[in-house]
Amino acid sequence: MDAPHSLIAAHKLRLDLALQLLQQAGAMLPDAEPYSEPWLQGIVDALCDLSSKDALTGLVNRRSFEMALGREVDRVARSGEPALLLMLDIDHFKAVNDQHGHAAGDLVIRAVAQSIAQTVRPMDTVARIGGEEFAIILPNCPTSFGEVVAERIRQRVQALAISLGGGQSPLTCTISIGGAFAPQWVRSSTLIWTERADRQLYRAKAEGRNRACLESHVDSLVSAEEKGMLFAVTQQDSE
Ligand code: GH3
Ligand code: MG
Ligand code: MG
Repeated sequence: MDAPHSLIAAHKLRLDLALQLLQQAGAMLPDAEPYSEPWLQGIVDALCDLSSKDALTGLVNRRSFEMALGREVDRVARSGEPALLLMLDIDHFKAVNDQHGHAAGDLVIRAVAQSIAQTVRPMDTVARIGGEEFAIILPNCPTSFGEVVAERIRQRVQALAISLGGGQSPLTCTISIGGAFAPQWVRSSTLIWTERADRQLYRAKAEGRNRACLESHVDSLVSAEEKGMLFAVTQQDSE
């Protein structure tokens, strides 16, 4: 028979590596008696936090973003509320690295990340999903607001003057944005939704960059057949 939890000797747990990781990441260790239950809970919480965040920007990382997107797909299917997914990519970012070095590139990524996070609502999920690629999940976002939100983000990034220090002139950069709404009242998939938003991002790049392209609402309308599948409306019910 398994030992009850209270009999597990917490001090025998091998936490050295976990503690080392948290210290390296500059995480605060819990302010409780070492190996007590609240202390262990604090360590677990800090590790969860560390594994869901992107180290460079502090934004949600790709893994955590995918989990949040899955939850949003379920929520939209249940509630029918409109939700928007935006994909963002810094324009001509290779040139920043080439001309100013990788460290300057990192500063630009951080500044863009901060600017995006400050432009959206606390309920929105802002993630860094690749090198200079970001994604934002905007739950409960009315379709008429989509373009306004995307345009506001684009303008805020364009207005940044990113200081490199050492008497160098501040850098500016632009982003391209693609967006798609989740089809309401049907269970889409994270893959389909991401691909639709990505397609709009490619369009924004192809049309000249520094712009936001959103899938037209008509494209994301759901057929009566799909709605019927969700509500299981039968011929008899509707007569
Ligand atoms: P486009 O407008 O088509 O997006 O052009 P681009 O130059 O931005 O092209 P691309 O997206 O292919 O370039 C991304 C570059 O970002 C390539 C890679 O060297 C760089 N990169 C990826 N991750 C990091 C990072 O963490 N820090 C820095 N400084 N650079 C990174
Ligand atoms: Mg890219
Ligand atoms: Mg790019």
